[in-house]
Amino acid sequence: MTEPDCLFCRIVAGEIPAIVVRETPNTMAFRDIAPKAPTHVLVIPKEHYADVASLATDDPALAGEVLATVADVAAAEGILGDGFRVIFNTGALVGQTVFHAHAHVLGGVAMDGELT
Ligand code: 5GP
Repeated sequence: MTEPDCLFCRIVAGEIPAIVVRETPNTMAFRDIAPKAPTHVLVIPKEHYADVASLATDDPALAGEVLATVADVAAAEGILGDGFRVIFNTGALVGQTVFHAHAHVLGGVAMDGELT
């Protein structure tokens, strides 16, 4: 299931370049084009789901694979021990701009515990 006009589907298809740091049969991880931290990687399911809520509802096993890739990326980036942040923006109200489910994996710098 892909959406021809979806930016991240096009990255999966190789139509738009990205710095891919990890790939599994069902997931992909690539560097954010506008990093907000020394490590800022996006982890996505290759299949198109608009957001993490629809992903978790429709294919919870795939949602689990995305989280496993998040952990693998954190380990590979060397931030697993120090700590890292995972964000799924869900909906335009809270800043989602690309409507293909994705986890932001952020680390490599101290952050406070504030949620906003
Ligand atoms: P959102 O705001 O939807 O949670 O996050 C979308 C993220 O995608 C943003 O952090 C933005 O910088 C990133 N992004 C937008 N366009 C591209 C692109 O063409 N390539 C890559 N690698 N990241 C992108």
